[in-house]
Amino acid sequence: MAIVYRIGAAFVLGSIAGLTIGEPVMVLEPLGDLFVRLLSMIVVPIIIFTLLMGIKELSPTSLGKIGGQVVAIYAVSSMIAVTIGLAVANLIEPGTGMTLTDADFEADEAPSFMDVFLGIVPENPIEAMATGDILATIFFVIVFGLALVLLRESTDDESVRDGVETVFNVAEAGSKALFKVVWGIMEYGVIGIFALMAVAFAEAGIEVFSTFAMLALTLILAVTIHIAVVYLGVMILLLTQQSPIAFLAGIKDALLTAVSISSSSATLPVSMSNADDNLHLNEGIYSFSLPLGATINMDGTGMYLGIVAIFAANIVGASLTLVEQVTVVAIAVLAGIGTAGVPSAGLILMTLVLTQVGLPVAVVGFIAGIDPLLDRIRTMTNVTGDLAVATLVGYWNGGVDFTSGSWSGETDLLP
Ligand code: ASP
Repeated sequence: MAIVYRIGAAFVLGSIAGLTIGEPVMVLEPLGDLFVRLLSMIVVPIIIFTLLMGIKELSPTSLGKIGGQVVAIYAVSSMIAVTIGLAVANLIEPGTGMTLTDADFEADEAPSFMDVFLGIVPENPIEAMATGDILATIFFVIVFGLALVLLRESTDDESVRDGVETVFNVAEAGSKALFKVVWGIMEYGVIGIFALMAVAFAEAGIEVFSTFAMLALTLILAVTIHIAVVYLGVMILLLTQQSPIAFLAGIKDALLTAVSISSSSATLPVSMSNADDNLHLNEGIYSFSLPLGATINMDGTGMYLGIVAIFAANIVGASLTLVEQVTVVAIAVLAGIGTAGVPSAGLILMTLVLTQVGLPVAVVGFIAGIDPLLDRIRTMTNVTGDLAVATLVGYWNGGVDFTSGSWSGETDLLP
């Protein structure tokens, strides 16, 4: 049976085991943590190797062009996501009739915009890699990679040129080896994902669903609209002229992993592998846009923040004016940029959004019980967005081969 089906079965069976057995399945927790650790282990090396390999094929101008396109689409799609979230929440009105029960919750503080901006440049690249600081790592590798390309073009020294080629060859071999590791980890993922889902549902319990049913429903509806219309309808079908089904089939491992581990950063090795093997994207595109997306592109999270703002307002019987709702869109989009794609990152941002529009921060503690489950939906949306944008930008720049493998084969590679 293909690995993705075994993982799918583990996902369903784990969830059922967690709901029916409850507390005793908590002993499985280390098995789930092991899976997340294994994936996290290769995130930084896979970014470094694939990015170096990608830069080899790009000129500084095309890198700038692709970077500009990626960031622009990330920004626009995030704004649309938050707007959809707010619209659906205004319609469904989650939280109406509920009373806020206080729960202790201490969220870490979100970084300031200036810190985020300066933080892109690492003081020490080794430290950035060691601490898994993705933006700073990308920055350093791009600078180093571009310098290698320029050196190769400008030097007359044969041995230096050979040296540059060797670095690129090492990167290529390294990334190919790590993609093999990804699939080794996914074999273990069958056990890991069973454990993760069992623990998640045993912790949350069934009652959490009935309490927060309207909140969950609002998020699910908003996410479905965003994925169906913006990603599949506009980006894949309309702009890239490809089959949304083929796209979803190509990224199913990444989606299942994202739902299981609630972290777009730790899902990166699987997303990159799907982008390479199934979507046939050029590494020049995905090696750069996917890690960037895992850090700055969080449509699911932004959308959730908008929904929680309406939820919080409904609980306290307030209503948000249009200006306040626009403020929520702006903060939600900008705040997402500085926060890594890790589990519950959304909670930190939520504190920021609620404070800005004067709503009670206690709501964050109130919904903390359902958050681990909703986080999975947000992460899956974030990862889908990263892959859809990579495909679209790949198409625009001739960096995707639709004619091979799982794609439909109806469109030729762009010149
Ligand atoms: N867990 C999400 C991610 O990794 C972020 C969040 O919404 O909490 O993309």
